[in-house]
Formats: sequence, C-alpha cells, structure tokens
Amino acid sequence: MKQANAAAIYARISSDQSGEGLGVQRQLEDCRRLAAERHWVVAAEYVDNDISAYSGKTRPSYERMLIDIEAGRVDAVLVYHLDRLTRRPAELEHFIDVCTDARVDVTTVTGDIGLGNDNGLMIARITSAMAAAESGRKSARIKRKMLQNAQMGKPNSGGARPYGYENDKVTLREEEARVIRDLALRYIAGESMNTLARWLNREGIPVPGKAPSWHVQTVRPILISARIAGIREYEGRELGPAIWPAIISLDERRQLLAVHQSKSRGGGTKKNRYLLSGLLRCGRCGGVLFHSGPPNIRRYQCQLATDDSTCGRLYINALKIEGWAAAAAIMRLDAPGMTSLLAARVTDDDRHTAQIADVMKAERALTELAEMLGAGELSRAEYAAARKVAAERHVEALRELDRATGTHVLDGIDPDRAALTRSWERLDLPRQRAIMRTLLEYAIIHPRPRGTRKLDPTRIEARWTV
Ligand SMILES: [Zn+2]
Repeated sequence: MKQANAAAIYARISSDQSGEGLGVQRQLEDCRRLAAERHWVVAAEYVDNDISAYSGKTRPSYERMLIDIEAGRVDAVLVYHLDRLTRRPAELEHFIDVCTDARVDVTTVTGDIGLGNDNGLMIARITSAMAAAESGRKSARIKRKMLQNAQMGKPNSGGARPYGYENDKVTLREEEARVIRDLALRYIAGESMNTLARWLNREGIPVPGKAPSWHVQTVRPILISARIAGIREYEGRELGPAIWPAIISLDERRQLLAVHQSKSRGGGTKKNRYLLSGLLRCGRCGGVLFHSGPPNIRRYQCQLATDDSTCGRLYINALKIEGWAAAAAIMRLDAPGMTSLLAARVTDDDRHTAQIADVMKAERALTELAEMLGAGELSRAEYAAARKVAAERHVEALRELDRATGTHVLDGIDPDRAALTRSWERLDLPRQRAIMRTLLEYAIIHPRPRGTRKLDPTRIEARWTV
C-alpha cells in the first residue's frame, strides 16, 4: 500500500432525504477513518450534495478535484463507493485516465477497489456498468444509515410498535409503561416470568400484537430489552443513550439482568420449583439435595453422582422440612424490615414495589459481603467497612419503605406471628423462595437417627444470613 501525503476525499449524495447532510457526513466519516487507518494525510475534502452522478450536470467539487489531481496536488483519492464518484462509464474512463497519468490511487471504503492496477480497473469498470446492481449498494448504504441512526440513539424505522411506546417509538404510552415498571420491579423482587405472564392475564392487561394471551415469550423480550432503560441497542450491542425516555432506571436494569442471569444459571425454572431447591446440603457428603418424588411423598435427597463425589444415601421429607423452614423463616422475619417486606404483598403502587426491591437488594448486598468474607475475598477490615455502607443503605431502604407503607417496623415489631404466617402462606412460591433465599444461606441435613419418624430438629443445621 503506497504512502499518501495528500489524500483527497470525495463524497456525494444524490438525494439527501434527511435534509441534514447525513449521507455526506457518513461517507466523510468512513473515508476519514480509512485514511487514518492507513496513516494517510487528508489534504482536501470534496463534497457535492444533491447532484446526481447520472444527470450529467456539472459537479463543482468533482471538477475541482480533477483539476487538483491533474495539477499534482493530490496523490490518492478516497471515496465511499465508486458510484459516489461517477455512474457514467465514459466519465469513469476519463477519471481513470486522469488518475493514471497523475499516478493517483483510488480507494473505496466499501470495496477497497484500487484503480492502480488492471484488476482494480476491471472491477471499477464492471461496477460502473452495473447500474442495475444499485439495490445491493443501496442496502449497504441503508445499513450504514441504520447504524448511524442507532449511534444517534434514534429508533429503527419500520417494524412493530415497541411495547410501552407510541407508534413514533419515542413517546411513552403511559398505561403500558406502568405495566413494564410493575413487571420489572416484580421480577427483581423474585417473581418468575411465568408468574408475571399469569398475573398479566389475570389482570386483563391487553396483549401486544396478535397473541391471545401473555406468555413467558411475550414478557421476556420486553423485560430484558435495553430499550425500556432508554438504551439504544444495535445488533445485540448497547450503543448508548436513546432519544426516547427510559421506563426503568439503569440501576434497575442492572438488577433485572443480574436476576435473569442467576435464574438462567440455575438451569431454568424446573430446578427452582420447590421452596428449598438448592438450599439443602447432605450431612454425609456435603452434596446438594435434589427434590424428587410424587406430591404425597415429596423429598429432598442426595443424588449419587457418577464420580462418587456424593453419597446418595440421605433424604428428608419435603413437607416436613419445608414446614420447618417456613416457620423458622417467619421467626426470623419477625425482625425490623422483614416484617413489612413480608406483609407488604404485591401492590399496584410501583413506588412501593420499587422500595421492596431496594430492601431486598440491600439485603442481598449484605449476604454477598458475608459470602466474600467467608470465601476469603475480603479482609476483616474491608468487610467491616463495606458492611457499614451496606447496612446504612439497608436501614435507609427500610425507612423509605416505612414511609411508603405507613407502618413503623423500625419502632415496633409486629408481634403477631399468626398474621405473619398467614401473609407468608398468601405469597406465591417464587416470592416465598426469594424471601427464603435472602434469609437462608443453606441448611445441612444430618442423617436420621435410628427409629425416629418425626422430624428431629437436631438433624437440621441452618446457616442464616441475618
Ligand atoms: Zn450425600
């Protein structure tokens, strides 16, 4: 590749539909980037706007460039595509002659066609003759235009109306935006996509598109889209802020994705169907206990691994251990904050739901810190410092929740355990699981002593997070 000390960039657009000169701007940008990549010095940029290379009308900048080439002021020409230069074969021949005489290379962004050799010349001639191939080149330009749209945070043209927004894809459709907010906060608070779909159907929320009812497949794309956080995505990449308003905050999006990821890691919904799935360990071998068995004799049991890393010799009755865990959880919930977390069943007040999510988030943070300390990733001092911050955030989140619910969980603890129990039973399983996970790190189940049929509490060695 020859060195260019005085490259010329030529750009032209035949009909500048946007009226913003974007077409030319794009061509210039790409040509400049190509020049930079090759360490070429750009001496001049020649721009003709709104003049067709077909029409035969004079193009002032093009003519000026030819003069500069002939005068030896240019040693290379950069153009986005050959059809920007000319579409008339006769004109192309003239251009080639001028460039050949002046020993000037012509390079295009799209095809990297050099006119400096025979092959390049041939390709250039064919390209020029193939005015019929316009559509292909147009699609490349349209793609480029779409990318630029995306970079500017603008929506795609065409396609279906995104849920939560009007047909212009920018203006909020309030009633749908509210639904999205609810969905996001409930999801963060631990409800599954499946539960959310059922909730939407129960509430009679209109389904987007032509689908008869809400499904996980309708809910998921809405929830995990960057769009609802006001982020412009292009081909799966997040490019930056969009011009439309966000429905959920960036922080909420992070939480939402974290929840989604941890659920996906868990291997889908099946694994998480039971209250204590993943939370029980075998007291013989340390293996995780898996749920098994028909409804009347459900159990959590150690599964024999093919590599003998687990024993497969221990199980516990599911109903009994779940009953014990729920009761123990309720006792632990009888503590500041957790009371209102439990009592505050899902409401349509999205601010309230957001505050519950904040409390849960703060509690998760505390748990994570404890885990990091346990895993040796944090020193005692680091843990103490981080925990102080997290604990303050926790208290603050609880205060916010208090203000919203009008309860005073920080002053007086609700002593009515029966009410708590009833509240617990009214929660759906995903929410119960979410609460259980914030409370119980894990429980080790020890082997059953001979002769006992009842659940012996000494078999259970629970490790609570708070
Ligand atoms: Zn075992």
